[in-house]
Amino acid sequence: MKKLIILLWIPLLLISCETSNAKKESSKRAPNSFAIVIHGGAGGIKRAYFTEEQQKAYTQKLQEALNAGYNVLEKGGISLDAIEAAINVMENSPLFNAGKGAVYNSEGKQEMDASIMDGKTLNSGAVAGVNHIKNPILAARIVMDSSKHVMLSGKGAEILVKKFGVKMVDSSYFFTQKRLNQLHKVQGKQKKQTNKTAFLIKNNLIDDHKYGTVGAIAIDKNGNIAAGTSTGGMTNKKYGRIGDSPIIGAGTYANNKTCGISATGTGEYFIRTVAAHEVSNLIQYKGLNPEEALHEVLFNQIGKLGGEGGMILLDKNGNVYWDFNSTGMFRGFKKSDGSQKIEMFEK
Ligand code: ASP
Repeated sequence: MKKLIILLWIPLLLISCETSNAKKESSKRAPNSFAIVIHGGAGGIKRAYFTEEQQKAYTQKLQEALNAGYNVLEKGGISLDAIEAAINVMENSPLFNAGKGAVYNSEGKQEMDASIMDGKTLNSGAVAGVNHIKNPILAARIVMDSSKHVMLSGKGAEILVKKFGVKMVDSSYFFTQKRLNQLHKVQGKQKKQTNKTAFLIKNNLIDDHKYGTVGAIAIDKNGNIAAGTSTGGMTNKKYGRIGDSPIIGAGTYANNKTCGISATGTGEYFIRTVAAHEVSNLIQYKGLNPEEALHEVLFNQIGKLGGEGGMILLDKNGNVYWDFNSTGMFRGFKKSDGSQKIEMFEK
């Protein structure tokens, strides 16, 4: 009987090892090792909603973003520069809801938010409601490095960062027909055309395919962690609405003592649960491992309130974790030990 019980346990153990997303987890950081992890938003991301061409385009862009950050780290660059490089790639692509691909608010305007945090010093910077800054993550960095404040909004943020040579653009730069179609759909203006799945897929109009925020976390050769998040917010949001992405502790958090985190999803719930900081606290003070902490916040806190989304996490030893309570999340990592992965759909 005893033997039978042991035999029954073996397959179970194997399954639980394979489903752990932390794979080769280490409890000590290898000297000089480095890593980067990114996301491109969570939501109703199902294979059936994407053509092969679209899947390829997302995979290529995520790979480009990972490589950009990884190259900085490989040359000995700091984690803050690495996440900036990775996020810039996604902000410059119309595929993601940040920078060029930002979604529209209820007034048909785009207002972008971004934040960045240095896990070594806890220095942070953020901008909210900007729409003339080509790469909002660079603006967040300027606020952190060159002002005594943490968050600037709208015009004030734009005036400050312009002085520091950040590239400014006319707001028409951010126009994309795809995002405008999504707004019209949400506002009910395309009712007649929207009953054909092929049309919906081609125009990225699948109902719950709402998010697309981008984020990155890196740990550099010195073991310093940085995290950043950039977004256009949520389609049809109220004019002036600010989500979790620029709020330190909600959408972004980094602390060398624990980990770096970037979130995506229905921002209000991530603000109400102070999601990213909560995950870090559960690790630091409650001794939860990162997987348990992510699960607790995403499912038992955010999910229970009705919120949806995901988070990526890079811990102080360079281990990568992610989790989401939505259907999918664009995500990937690349580490100096040679491991890398890009995924989009179900866990
Ligand atoms: N969290 C973002 C917000 O609420 C949206 C997203 O992740 O796509 O503004």
